[in-house]
Amino acid sequence: MLRVAVIGSGPSGVYTAQNLVQLDPEVRVDVIDRLPCPYGLVRYGVAPDHEKIKSLQNNLRTVLEHDRVRFLGGVEIGAGGIAVERLRELYDAVVYCVGAAADRRLSIPGEDLRGSWSATEFVSWYSAHPDAVDGGFVRDARSAVVIGVGNVAVDVTRILARGAAELRPTDMPEAALTALTASRVTDIHMVGRRGPSQARFTTKELRELGGLPDTDILLDAAELSLDPAYGDPSGLPAVQRRNVEALRAWVDRPASGTARRIHARFFLRPVAFLPDPSGTRVAGVRFERTRPDGTGGVTGTGVYEEVPAQLVLRSVGYRGVPLEGLPFDAHSGTVPHRAGRVLREGVVAPGEYVAGWIKRGPTGVIGTNRPCAKETVTSLLEDAAMIERTSPLEDPLTRWRAEGIAPVEWTGWRAIERAEAALGASLGRGSGVKLPDWPSLMSAAGEGTAPEARDSRSTHTAG
Ligand code: NAP
Repeated sequence: MLRVAVIGSGPSGVYTAQNLVQLDPEVRVDVIDRLPCPYGLVRYGVAPDHEKIKSLQNNLRTVLEHDRVRFLGGVEIGAGGIAVERLRELYDAVVYCVGAAADRRLSIPGEDLRGSWSATEFVSWYSAHPDAVDGGFVRDARSAVVIGVGNVAVDVTRILARGAAELRPTDMPEAALTALTASRVTDIHMVGRRGPSQARFTTKELRELGGLPDTDILLDAAELSLDPAYGDPSGLPAVQRRNVEALRAWVDRPASGTARRIHARFFLRPVAFLPDPSGTRVAGVRFERTRPDGTGGVTGTGVYEEVPAQLVLRSVGYRGVPLEGLPFDAHSGTVPHRAGRVLREGVVAPGEYVAGWIKRGPTGVIGTNRPCAKETVTSLLEDAAMIERTSPLEDPLTRWRAEGIAPVEWTGWRAIERAEAALGASLGRGSGVKLPDWPSLMSAAGEGTAPEARDSRSTHTAG
């Protein structure tokens, strides 16, 4: 019987566990997460108004409730937690599904002015991530700039444009709901450095922006026409063609003059964040007009435009971070691998695997993780006969408890869910409302934890 640890309980981790139990009738899988809550970016990344995608949690849940799968939350792996080497002693194989936790930087002047945030910081706040900071994002802001035209940019643009009636029935934490419903942001500029046919968003997500209540979407036909494919998108791949068609359909739509405006802008690359008179807060972004270079890229034109903004969200993609004890390619932000097998100095490291964004970089939708996890699990099971059996027969959890580590188990997570449902009901919100901080999560989890496990909780346990 193989004992496998999967590190990370987002989609890639859960699909890895699912493939393992489907393809091996005996394997036992511990899905370990730093947070006391499972589901990774499905819980802490998918926008709260995307209920249908969020409902994927129900599919992920059935995997984590499988009788040969165990969720162990609140356990840090790597620096400050359980060392990678120690994991290898406890399990026959370890699959790292730790995602891409950092943001890419723009590295332009003024990026760290107050009011300039990564989109991830904003998303974490409205998604109630317990490490999120309340940056007062929309406070005193009338105009916002979102840099980038991927699906995260569309998410944050849409959340900024949504009204109370749409946000209230979601699981958004109460403080974020209060702040966003009091927001006086009227203009949101979503800005791409290349053209509409090169935007990274998908058409369904883009179209939602055109259907928001009390919000106009404004486009400049002359700007869009800088894209050679704008006039005739028929030769583009399907997603890009549909994106361009969706944008074209909005160009001639008369503005209704309602409360909010989304300005979808293209061919503008950010060159500096502009400070306000105090020199500490962002007051706008300077962009350089670009034009296509004929090879899919753009070149500068030396023409500049300043867009005023008291809030800037940099939505230019995620980046993987190294995990102490694992090899890391700083250029790609991924762990070097061959078909999911971790490579140490170019050589396969037996018993160590990767799946998800830390394997292939931060691209693709949730479903992309299915084939990715399957490839990794296939490699693992092919290797199984050769993997040196390092794990003792004893259950790793017994060892951990003896060492003072008390993970949040499934009963603890279910108790968090009950606490969130009760909070939502008490607030009359029409759904569960997320607990936004470590103390409330851990206290709720404790309600579902056996006393002996609670007593052995120690500093090894995150939070
Ligand atoms: P993304 O799709 O990689 O988009 C990043 C955007 O940032 C692109 O427009 C890119 O432009 C721009 N960018 C990068 N560097 C820049 C720079 N230095 N200056 C200006 N712009 C720059 O990343 P993402 O939006 O973070 O999404 C990550 C993944 O999650 C994607 O696969 C996405 O589809 C997925 N996701 C899906 C959903 C959904 O399905 N609803 C929701 C959220 C996220 P260039 O193209 O010119 O580089």
